[in-house]
Amino acid sequence: MGTIDADFAGETVVVTGGSSGIGRAVATGFGDAGATVINADVQAEPKDVDTETPTHEVIEERGGTAAFVETDVSDPSQIETVIEAAREFGGVDVMVNNAGVHRSLEFLDVTPDDFDFVHGVNLRGAFFGTQLAAKDMIDRGVEGAIVNTSSTTAERAERNHSHYAATKGGIQMLTRSAALELDAHGIRVNAVAPGPIATEIREGWADEARGAIEESDGLPSRAGIPADLRGAYLYLASADAGYVTGETVWVDGGSRL
Ligand code: NAD
Repeated sequence: MGTIDADFAGETVVVTGGSSGIGRAVATGFGDAGATVINADVQAEPKDVDTETPTHEVIEERGGTAAFVETDVSDPSQIETVIEAAREFGGVDVMVNNAGVHRSLEFLDVTPDDFDFVHGVNLRGAFFGTQLAAKDMIDRGVEGAIVNTSSTTAERAERNHSHYAATKGGIQMLTRSAALELDAHGIRVNAVAPGPIATEIREGWADEARGAIEESDGLPSRAGIPADLRGAYLYLASADAGYVTGETVWVDGGSRL
């Protein structure tokens, strides 16, 4: 099978949660495609078990331009700081709201603290990431693209995921609502919904995902890897997706069939 070449030379891409897992694969993918990449994460160190090199250093080692801005996306003022930092590189053209956290809890055990923590990062972070990036694009007259990270749990209920799934369902409607209101400014808003991807989103998740898949005779037939997601983000952020907005691309190995 062939591959699709992407060219983001001259564009600045902000990826939240770009230090590890899916965000790291997406950030390096944009770096390889020539974009200036800003990783906005609470920590520069990757949680991934196979590397210790921060994402921005990987991109620079490959000849690209990248920066790390320590950011807690649940605080909108910190998102504003990232967007200001992007102005030093010409301003944000593409915003990827990917930072996410997960706590595995039965519905009856979720506390208000659990709920607020997961909603603060996943939904509040994506909401104000979308809004603040859009305001900045409008101020600069840039017809940019925003890509949010959803999940198959936005559509399919899974045990121990209730509060997390609620954030991802929220991201679905955030994406569609923002797409509707921002179209007049030439800004497109889309989402990528991963299935089970082997990452360290919480300790033991990669092994748990692989184990659950081995026991099942349905789809997916394997756990995804972060690199499986890269193409969907690049496509939705690109001019090739110029007539695509409010859409979700499901990259889930057939999880919902
Ligand atoms: P990951 O833990 O490998 O990466 C998440 C990144 O977000 C980490 O680098 C972490 O430091 C960062 N982060 C956490 N809290 C933050 C905050 N407050 N501000 C900024 N950054 C913060 O996990 P992942 O699996 O790559 O998850 C990425 C996204 O993909 C999340 O939104 C997650 O919900 C979503 N997702 C993951 C899966 C999966 O199976 N792994 C499936 C569907 C959706």
